[in-house]
Amino acid sequence: MSISASQQIISRVGGVSRSVEGRRGQPVVGQTPARPPTSREVRAARRASATISFMEAIVAKPRGFCAGVERAIKVVELALEKFGAPVYVRKEIVHNTHVVARLRAAGAVFVNDLDEVPIGAITVLSAHGSPPAVYSRAAARDLQVIDATCPLVTKVHAEVKRYVKRGYRIIFIGHAGHDEVEGTMGQAPECTTLVETTADVARLQLASDQPGVILTQTTLSQDDTAGIVQALQSRFPWLELPPSDDICYATQNRQNAVKQMLAERDIDLLLVVGSQNSSNSKRLTEVAIARGIDSHLIDGPEQIDPAWIQSRRRIGVTSGASAPEDVVQSVLSYLRGRGAGAIDEIPAPDENVVFGLPPFARLTRGGEPL
Ligand code: SF4
Repeated sequence: MSISASQQIISRVGGVSRSVEGRRGQPVVGQTPARPPTSREVRAARRASATISFMEAIVAKPRGFCAGVERAIKVVELALEKFGAPVYVRKEIVHNTHVVARLRAAGAVFVNDLDEVPIGAITVLSAHGSPPAVYSRAAARDLQVIDATCPLVTKVHAEVKRYVKRGYRIIFIGHAGHDEVEGTMGQAPECTTLVETTADVARLQLASDQPGVILTQTTLSQDDTAGIVQALQSRFPWLELPPSDDICYATQNRQNAVKQMLAERDIDLLLVVGSQNSSNSKRLTEVAIARGIDSHLIDGPEQIDPAWIQSRRRIGVTSGASAPEDVVQSVLSYLRGRGAGAIDEIPAPDENVVFGLPPFARLTRGGEPL
């Protein structure tokens, strides 16, 4: 039975619903007066109400692809179009299983090490950025490199180089083993110290006669980072901050959208669409969990455990910066199929951030940009 049919039955069994009641409870002229329900109707209504779900899905905005991810995907697509398959890509171009699988199907070959790439082949470097050693290795193998590093990651690389040139030690807040951290710390490994937690700060030893600056991975939790920065500055008051925040606009906007959803919509579960190795997606689940709300990171609807959504009233849905929108829509379809009667998107302005393509990719066909 559809939700609307069930709701009609409940109205009828209630006897006096708003739709048939006139002023002061008088029946509306021309309509059947209310009568007590028969026991058969009561039983039918009870059965129907047991299957009705009043679950709602609330969708965050902004969500999904950021400008850096859009650009990186476009770079691989254009490389395939211009040079033909295979196009080699060092590391996952962005951290999303769907994106990687779709590009692989189109002819991209993903490698972890440039030694796996044939000499002279077209090679794309991922959005997360690469250490200088990778560019040297590419040159040694005569690879034709197309750099899809996000400009906001390149900005942090430039900061590292600028501060190191001025004699600073870099205190870098990030997650060990993440591709971006490898790329940024690789800019000046001997001058950079990684901290992941406030416990790391407590163990840290720094010489007070050397200037220092705190830089961060672009996809961190604003809340966690603020706590680590505070701990660093309270132990080492001479540490400076860069002129502008390193946590990128997309990370901030998606976290703020989740905070807004938690504050205004009283959700009792947050589903984040994104892959397990996506840092910014994981941070979105943490925003909810830190506020006492259950949250799960899922690659798609097939990963939803039906027990998670049982008895939920309002389920929030969002997606990380590398998750395609069609996967979000498939999650919403899944929820609709399990009783989500309303899907509501929190209104927010569009981000309207676009990064230009690397020079090779500024191709035209018939005079029109591709
Ligand atoms: S999440 Fe931020 S830093 Fe990472 S690719 Fe997107 S815009 Fe660039």
